[in-house]
Amino acid sequence: MKIFNRLATISVASAIVAGTALGSAQPTFASGGVETANQNDNVSYMGNTKNPKNVIFLVGDGMGPSYNAAYRYFADKPETKEMDKTAFDNFLVGNQRTNPKDPKENVTDSAAGATAFSSGHKTYNGAIGVDENKQKVKTVLEQAKENGKSTGLVSTAEITDATPAAYASHVDHRDKKDEIAQQFYNDRINGQHKVDVLLGGGAEYFGKENGDLTKKFKKDGYDVVKNKSQMQNSKSNQILGLFADNDMPLQIDAPKKNPKLVDMTDTAINKLKQNQKGFFLMVEGASIDKSGHPNDITGVMSEMQGFEKAFDYATTYAKENPDTLIVATADHSTGGLSIAKGKDYVWNPDAIHSMKHSGAYMTKQIASGKDAAKVIKDGYGFEVKQDQIDKINEEAKKVRKLDEEDKAYKDAYQKLQDAVQKPINDESNTGWTTYGHTGEDVNTYAFGPGSDKFHGNIDNTDNAKNIFDFFQNNQQ
Ligand SMILES: [Zn+2]
Repeated sequence: MKIFNRLATISVASAIVAGTALGSAQPTFASGGVETANQNDNVSYMGNTKNPKNVIFLVGDGMGPSYNAAYRYFADKPETKEMDKTAFDNFLVGNQRTNPKDPKENVTDSAAGATAFSSGHKTYNGAIGVDENKQKVKTVLEQAKENGKSTGLVSTAEITDATPAAYASHVDHRDKKDEIAQQFYNDRINGQHKVDVLLGGGAEYFGKENGDLTKKFKKDGYDVVKNKSQMQNSKSNQILGLFADNDMPLQIDAPKKNPKLVDMTDTAINKLKQNQKGFFLMVEGASIDKSGHPNDITGVMSEMQGFEKAFDYATTYAKENPDTLIVATADHSTGGLSIAKGKDYVWNPDAIHSMKHSGAYMTKQIASGKDAAKVIKDGYGFEVKQDQIDKINEEAKKVRKLDEEDKAYKDAYQKLQDAVQKPINDESNTGWTTYGHTGEDVNTYAFGPGSDKFHGNIDNTDNAKNIFDFFQNNQQ
């Protein structure tokens, strides 16, 4: 709490400075700042314009409300008396509905969710930047570019994955990743590339097999980078950073040379802010969802931590730059995560803290033939009983017999992953109900000018509608 109050003091000081610099006698505050429980903690009265010049939109993919609450337990410092707030908590302004407009399904996937975020249109599951009739719909990123702003997409998934894709491409199905990458390169607005900063995984879709897109971007002046130090040394304001062939490894498992989500956010903001006309940036913590699907609580907490750091970085930037709006939300929840299961009123994050690797990492190692007992010993922070190792070995045998292309492979692999994760899900007392998505409303966090528009219970399409309003208003 002490640190937080210190930040609040700094924020007020910089608001006054900013107000003075712009020639107003008093700093003007965005209306409807967040009412926090303790008014001394109210730092969200920042902002001196109604229409933000810059928008940073952060998507915690799959980050349903139970993820935010579980992460609060996980991040709590044991030395403090009360449970500590997370970086998100002081910026909660409401929640939002996530349902898609799909002929068969009424629980959304990330493609329909992201298209709602990017364009303000409800659509069918799988749709990328197109409406229910497969017609192209304009996105807030495209509007930003039309206004002469700079634009960026950052994700821990493939940069062609549904969420970033829905901001800068238009295809009728999310699996058309080659086409999405092609559109990232080929589509121009006022003769310029749509996206100035592209950071994430998915190198596979930019190589020789798909027309050497990396080379083409490089020729057009983009820095093309493959690791953290190259990224941080990059000088061009346009950058294509591809840090994995497919999804980036989870933070808990990643090699040091890989940038974290916060590092990519830092680089993106530093490049985009060079444009006097402002910027739009989307940052996705994609592997919250990718860990939620196989019910990997260690992976989920690893990625929530990474996402919180990126959010914290973005809000700190917005406190110093009062023309910046921050919005963070989720597209849906995943896995039916529950904080405790069975009859005990206990959830034990300490067990998760002791883990050295995610369930996904250990499962991959074991499936590829590594000795299960050793992988478990290296990945777990507590002793796993022999009967559970036996069960893992039994499931591993079935997976190893199958080819990845076999129909039965996916199920067998999940059964192996379930066996690998059973000890940690039991020890932490974490419950799950599905390997898919769930339809509850998700939290909205917002800060800066215009954040009042995100208050209350809104629809996922309102994110785009509000941002379009802001950008159209400051176009003149
Ligand atoms: Zn998902």
